[in-house]
Amino acid sequence: MQILVLVKQVPDTATRIKIDADGKDIQRDGLTWVLNPYDEYAVEEALLLKELHGGTVTVLTLGPAKADEALRSALAMGADEAVRVDGQPADALQAGWALAQAAKALAPDLILCGKQAVDDDQAEVGVLVAEFLNLPQVTVAVSLSVDPAAHSGQAKREVEGGVQQIAFSLPAVVTAQKGLNEPRYPSLPGIMKAKRKEITVQAADLGIAAGVELVRLTPPAPRKAGTLLKDLPGADAGRELIRLLHEDAKAI
Ligand SMILES: Cc1cc2nc3c(=O)[nH]c(=O)nc-3n(C[C@H](O)[C@H](O)[C@H](O)COP(=O)(O)OP(=O)(O)OC[C@H]3O[C@@H](n4cnc5c(N)ncnc54)[C@H](O)[C@@H]3O)c2cc1C
Repeated sequence: MQILVLVKQVPDTATRIKIDADGKDIQRDGLTWVLNPYDEYAVEEALLLKELHGGTVTVLTLGPAKADEALRSALAMGADEAVRVDGQPADALQAGWALAQAAKALAPDLILCGKQAVDDDQAEVGVLVAEFLNLPQVTVAVSLSVDPAAHSGQAKREVEGGVQQIAFSLPAVVTAQKGLNEPRYPSLPGIMKAKRKEITVQAADLGIAAGVELVRLTPPAPRKAGTLLKDLPGADAGRELIRLLHEDAKAI
């Protein structure tokens, strides 16, 4: 079974983001970059399916040379092959197109990706890849099984108040939700092996016009300073706290 996993390098959510002078991008230097957390679930699921059914796990990213780090994280977890499509997508449509063209050439039985990337939070790329390749898609999966011989799969999705069970045919695209599995930590030999592994690099096919234009990025408004209740005896502090919650915060 050939499994392809789309992985994206994103800034660590704990890192402090600054916006460029032109307001159109973040300052990319000096950030801590990680493999998108939802993509870790996708990689783990691919490895579990390979352990059950055999085959190959290939990880694919679209981005600059720095994004090789995300590929190496996935290789260290146990992926077999890594491909980087070199390019700068202008929006999710271009990202989905470029990844779909690269995926088509690899002809996988299953494409896994995160349900969303935690930087842009668009949750569009997996869906677009499925549409461009005219494949069935299951989004936000919390469980997955496949029968490669029957070219079919089953997935579960959590919805408000219940669980949907979905049957689909392979090849298909499945986007991973938290809870799908527990991603493994890379082993030391895995990390060493991943450092030496060759990454295939190819030019991105960005042959579709961007659908939207990012106009401006704006940082969130600075938080108001907190209120410290001090020098009040216990009961008065309690009363004052309730008054503040009621009148200022309007929380009760
Ligand atoms: C190098 C680079 C430069 C960019 N420059 C710009 C820019 O100038 N202006 C602008 O508006 N946007 C830019 N973007 C953002 C780009 O448009 C977004 O990647 C795109 O909009 C997808 O949105 P998302 O990341 O929220 O993906 P989502 O749809 O939330 O991602 C869902 C899943 O799709 C997969 N995926 C997403 N992106 C990639 C990827 N690149 N490679 C592999 N898998 C992926 C992952 O599995 C991910 O979990 C850039 C992105 C990159 C990588």
